[in-house]
Amino acid sequence: MSDCIFCKIINGEIPSKKVLENDKFYAFHDIEPVKKVHVLIVPKNHVSNIAHLNENNEDYVEGLLPFVRDVAKELGISKDGYRLIFNTGKKAGQTVFHMHAHLLGGEEMGWPEA
Ligand code: IMP
Repeated sequence: MSDCIFCKIINGEIPSKKVLENDKFYAFHDIEPVKKVHVLIVPKNHVSNIAHLNENNEDYVEGLLPFVRDVAKELGISKDGYRLIFNTGKKAGQTVFHMHAHLLGGEEMGWPEA
C-alpha cells in the first residue's frame, strides 16, 4: 500500500535496522523500543491486522512462527525467553495498520505486566 509506513520500510523507501528477512517476512528494530530487545516482524504483503486475514490473504502469514523463532535465534534471546505481541485494532493500541508482531525480550518481564 503506497501510504503505509511499513510497506515503505519493506521496500527500502524508509531506512530501518534490519534483523532478518526471507521471501515472506521482514524483521527490524522498533524505533521506540519499550524493552532492551524490541523487534517488529511484518509480512511483506500488506494486510492491516489479524482481523483482516481471510481466504484471500491467509497465506501471507504462513511460516510466521518459524520465522519468529529464527529472529529470536539471530538476536541471541532464544534461551532467555521472549514475548510476542500483536496489537490488533485501535482499542488494543494498534497505531500502524500493517500487521506486525512485537518481539520483546532481553530483560526480565513480569506477567501480567504492571
Ligand atoms: P503498534 O502500536 O502495535 O501499531 O506498533 C507500531 C510500532 O511501530 C510502535 O512500537 C512504533 O514505535 C513503531 N514504529 C513506527 N514507525 C517506525 C519506524 O519508522 N521504524 C521502526 N519502528 C517504527
